[in-house]
Amino acid sequence: MLTIGAFAKASRLSPKALRLYDELELLRPARVDPETGYRYYAVEQLEQARLVAWLRRLGMPLARIRQVCALDEPAAAREIRAYWARVEAETATRRDLAAFLVDHLSQASEEDTVMLELRYAALSDTGLVRPANQDTAYAGTRVLAVADGFGSGGAPASTAAVEALKVLDSETLPAGSVLNLLEDAVQGATRAVRDIAATDEEVGTTLTAMLWTGSQLALVHIGDSRAYLLRDGELFRITHDHTLVQSMVDEGRLTVEEAAAHPQRALLLKGLTGGASVPAPDMRLQDARPGDRFLLCSDGLYGTLTETDIERTLASVPNPEEAVHTLVAGANDAGGPDNVSCVVADVVEARA
Ligand code: MN
Repeated sequence: MLTIGAFAKASRLSPKALRLYDELELLRPARVDPETGYRYYAVEQLEQARLVAWLRRLGMPLARIRQVCALDEPAAAREIRAYWARVEAETATRRDLAAFLVDHLSQASEEDTVMLELRYAALSDTGLVRPANQDTAYAGTRVLAVADGFGSGGAPASTAAVEALKVLDSETLPAGSVLNLLEDAVQGATRAVRDIAATDEEVGTTLTAMLWTGSQLALVHIGDSRAYLLRDGELFRITHDHTLVQSMVDEGRLTVEEAAAHPQRALLLKGLTGGASVPAPDMRLQDARPGDRFLLCSDGLYGTLTETDIERTLASVPNPEEAVHTLVAGANDAGGPDNVSCVVADVVEARA
């Protein structure tokens, strides 16, 4: 048995930290003298004391440290990997929000030399298997949107979410308030979906939408529809699926290939639903250059065609109208297992 002083020295932790760990039930002394209250530690506790100190330095919450300390080494390693993957995913979301704010606040002072505008097309199709189309796709001068409804009121839910965003197409956008406008519109969409779904959490819709500001696109995203950017002939996915399988991929528990074939691949972690607390969607600002081509689509497209197929079509079909028809036809040629929706928008220099 070591006294707290000797144990502190051996573990390179202060007696104060050891008393704190005791109070927090992270590391209990092996024996406490009932008379004097002195704490005694076993030599075998050194390893655990160091682990606690490292996990505290990592910023792991106390409850989770307690769990990790109770596991054997391989299980503890898996838990730490999963915890860190979660931290990185959350940091990425915050980084995007920070970039959005920086862009948003810097934009007011920038002067645009080139006027840009969008050429766009939208198409939604039932596919060959589903009895009805619960998807909604829309493209206007400023608003691009895809929504994939689910549950008994899926079709009206996706329609209502997109309708709530369409108001942005008819309003003149006051400079510098794009963030607020989009946020208000999303709140409107959330309320509209809640009205339709009542309190049913199984009814709702995904929503992936972009608002054109004249030089940039504000992006809002919740669920598993996606936005892609084709730039210089290369396809980039610019949204993150809010699905169980994506979170398992993030945590290193599943490969991308396993996720694509997983029986629960459609299980959403986030969506606009009738649930009491709808989680906040991802929001960020996306820069746009002449020649950029954006694609918004439901899972009926990317779940049926490979990203290579999608990239090839987007890179080879010149106008948006023809591109959305080619993509939808491609999904239906591949069996059309789900409703399929696409919006294609090209960033072009405005004709004077
Ligand atoms: Mn779908």
